[in-house]
Formats: sequence, C-alpha cells, structure tokens
Amino acid sequence: MKRRISILGSTGSIGRQALEVIEKLEDKFEIIALAAGGNTDLLNEQIKKFKPKFAYASKPENIEGAEYVSMEEICSNRDNDIILVAVSGRVGLRPTITAINNGIDIALANKETLVMAGDIVMPLAKEKGVKIIPVDSEHCAIHQCIKDIAQVDRLIITASGGPFLRKTVEDMKNATVQEALAHPRWNMGKKITVDSATLMNKGLEVIEAHHLFGMDYDRIKVVVHPQSVVHSAIEYVDGSVIAQLGLPSMHIPIQYAITYPERFEGIKSRSFSFSEIARLDFEEPDWDKFKALDLAIEAGKIGGSATVCLNAANEEAVFAFLDGRIKLFDIVHTVEDMMSKHVVVKNPTLDEIFDIDNEIRAKTKELFLNFV
Ligand code: NDP
Ligand code: MG
Repeated sequence: MKRRISILGSTGSIGRQALEVIEKLEDKFEIIALAAGGNTDLLNEQIKKFKPKFAYASKPENIEGAEYVSMEEICSNRDNDIILVAVSGRVGLRPTITAINNGIDIALANKETLVMAGDIVMPLAKEKGVKIIPVDSEHCAIHQCIKDIAQVDRLIITASGGPFLRKTVEDMKNATVQEALAHPRWNMGKKITVDSATLMNKGLEVIEAHHLFGMDYDRIKVVVHPQSVVHSAIEYVDGSVIAQLGLPSMHIPIQYAITYPERFEGIKSRSFSFSEIARLDFEEPDWDKFKALDLAIEAGKIGGSATVCLNAANEEAVFAFLDGRIKLFDIVHTVEDMMSKHVVVKNPTLDEIFDIDNEIRAKTKELFLNFV
C-alpha cells in the first residue's frame, strides 16, 4: 500500500529534495497535500507534477490545480500516514501539534518546533503514540544508531565547523553575507546556513537532541568533523561507540525519515567508499570563536522560555544580518543581550510561547533601529 504523505515547505531546500526522493519512489507514495509560502510558481509546478488534492500557499488565489486548505487543515486530515514538516521558522509549530493530536506520524525537519516547545511536543507525541522521526542529519544518524536509549551514555553530535572553521575572529568580524552563506559541505536555506556559520545551528541541534532522545545536556557532546561523513554517534555505557556514516547529502536522512522503518534504494546514487574518503578528522569546537554554541546550550539548560528567547532573538538577528543591517558578530551579541534581560517562564503554555516569541522579536527589531 502506498504511504500517504503531505509536505509543509515543499518549495524549500528540504521540501524540494523530499520531492526528488518521492519521484524516485513514486510507487511507494501518494501525496495528499503540499504547502508553501510565497513561491507559488514553484508550488504550481509541483502540483502539476505530483497531483496532490490539496495545497496551501500564503496567497491562495495563486494556487492552480489543487484545492486550497490551511496548514492546520492539512494536519487534521487523517488520510495522511505521515507529514514532513519542512517549513522554516515558528510556523511549523502549530501544524505539528495538530498532526500529533490527529495521530499522524511526523518527519521533522523544522528545528523551531522542538527548540520552542520540545517540552510540549514530545510528551504529547508519546501520549498519542505518534512517531517523530528526525530529518536533521545528526538526529537521523542518532536515531539510526540507537537500539535501547536506556543503555546510551552519551550522544556525540558532529559539526562541520562551517565556512569560518579555519578563519580568525577578525575574519569573522568582517564577514560578508556571501562569505557566511558559502557553506563548505551543505546546500541549505539561508537562515540555517548563517546559523551554521556561527555554530548557532549546532546549539539548536543540541536542544533538539535533548528533547528527541530525552538526554541530559551534560551527556550531549559536540565534536567538529570537517568532512561531514560521520553524521553523529552514540556511546553506550560499556564504551562502545556506534556512528552513522554517509556522503553529505540530505536526500539520505529525508528518505530515511519518510520511509521509516523500511529502507529502499531510492535516491542512492553510488556506494560509499572508505578508501575514497581516506581520512576523517575530529577536533574540539573553538568555544571562544563560536560563542553561539555555548549560549544555546546554556539556554537549553535553563529551559522553559529561555530557548524561545534564544530562537526568536537569533532568527531576527540573522534576518537583519542577511539584510546587511548588522554584522555577523552582532547576531550573537544580540542574542546574549536579549537572553540576559529575559525573565524565564518555567513551563510556558503554547500561547505563552507565542507571546514570548512575539515580544522578543519586537524587542530585537527595536534594538536594530540603533544600528541603522
Ligand atoms: P528554506 O528556507 O529553503 O525553505 C523554507 C520553506 O518553508 C519554503 O518552502 C517556504 O516557502 C516555507 N515557508 C516559509 N515561511 C512559510 C509560511 N509562513 N507559511 C508557509 N510556508 C512557509 O528552508 P530549509 O528547507 O533549509 O529548512 C527548513 C527547515 O528544516 C528549517 O527549520 C531548518 O532549520 C530545517 N533543516 C534544514 C536542513 C537543510 O539541509 N536545509 C537541515 C536540517 C534542518 P516559500 O519558499 O514558498 O516561501
Ligand atoms: Mg543538521
């Protein structure tokens, strides 16, 4: 029987690659709905090709060839076996919760869902018996390595180090948008690419891992691995380490997540060759240069609304950097400033999370008025 799937964020980097996977496995999937933001030209091409019954875009009147529905409606449609949440930003959170409430499994790419509300999302998924299968390559790797979480001592998350790994602090201070977007290993959306340059992305991934696998922060280790071949690893209590390896391509974790627990050849283009790769390097992160990493882990440890503040301030600062209004280092200074002023709410409700998110964004934007 075909697996019935919907994709939120079908026009983005993850969404487009997911459709490439589905194209290779067309006899295995039926697409129920596609959702995009503003790129209705691409969405309409996708509708023509994949023929979903329903579609969402921020301008419904531009949709051609499918019936308009909201993302909430997509996630309430129990015809779905699985929903790939690959929108960027906080818009992923409410639809994910709706899908979980409807008992629909989730392939989760959207980081913000767990960073903002992991304490709500994960217990709800457990209560409803819903699987949350990670798409993020590091978490997908860990998901593949874990047999019994109770026997795992540590999670080891790898980081490529981004474009500034071998650059000085001075180089980073003067970095252009173009330099920050020139990621050596991964081709991703702009926001996550800037986060990868500051290592904020790795910090967000530590928070994600904490929620996904229920692991204490002091048992999650980050190691820099420039080749991005070891996607992450786990260490069992007996010292045995299991890692997941593969060529750096998001097609593989996307395919894993949407076909789980089955595996197919699908997108595989060539075999993995240890001798071709020849060497794998590992090193400690430079915590002084990449302060965002520490900041994110601290926010995770504080918990409650601290990660909401971190995420909102960071996202607004990244947008300001991409707009050329602030420098790369201003991102982490901004987040630090907002975090230091934030009064943490311990167990925020979903509404409180959105209120705090709005408040931090407004305050962050206000801060930038002084930068112009
Ligand atoms: P992109 O910026 O490439 O794509 C974002 C997608 O979300 C687009 O389809 C966009 O639509 C859609 N979107 C944005 N805002 C809205 C909105 N308000 N309503 C509906 N749709 C919206 O991002 P990525 O694909 O890179 O990343 C998506 C998520 O996955 C992020 O949370 C990211 O952190 C995570 N992730 C990404 C990885 C990667 O390799 N790219 C790796 C691991 C995680 P449109 O373009 O039509 O406006
Ligand atoms: Mg990742």
